[in-house]
Amino acid sequence: MAGPALSAARTRPGLAVTLDDFDIADGPRLSGAERHAAILSSLERHRIRAAGFPAGKFVDNDPARRHLQTWSQRGHLIGNHSYSHSFYAGGSPERMMADILREEPLLSAFPTFRKWFRYPYLAEGKTAEGRDGLRRLLQANGYRNA
Ligand SMILES: [Zn+2]
Repeated sequence: MAGPALSAARTRPGLAVTLDDFDIADGPRLSGAERHAAILSSLERHRIRAAGFPAGKFVDNDPARRHLQTWSQRGHLIGNHSYSHSFYAGGSPERMMADILREEPLLSAFPTFRKWFRYPYLAEGKTAEGRDGLRRLLQANGYRNA
């Protein structure tokens, strides 16, 4: 029978930290590199391993690739958030899947890449048909809904 400490550990709430988009452009207070370093520093200070879901259009450039490389080297996971980050209303699961697969080559070389998909705006489609159609395509391409 488990002691109190083990029981407490089993019932302790969990917390998943995820970051979407990775639009790490220069801002008025911090450069993109400074902001990214601050995010990583904060995660490490609190011993948090996070998952990032970059939109391809924001990471299809060299500075962003370096940010992702650092992100991955520090042990943080990387998932797919589609290339164009468009709202999925459910009209064309095939077009949405193509957008997801368009981003994959930008991410798949990183060791911490996982075939996890985060829907932009968490929009899974306005119809059951559209929702189920993309779910089938995600599964057929080895993706899980993140
Ligand atoms: Zn997003």
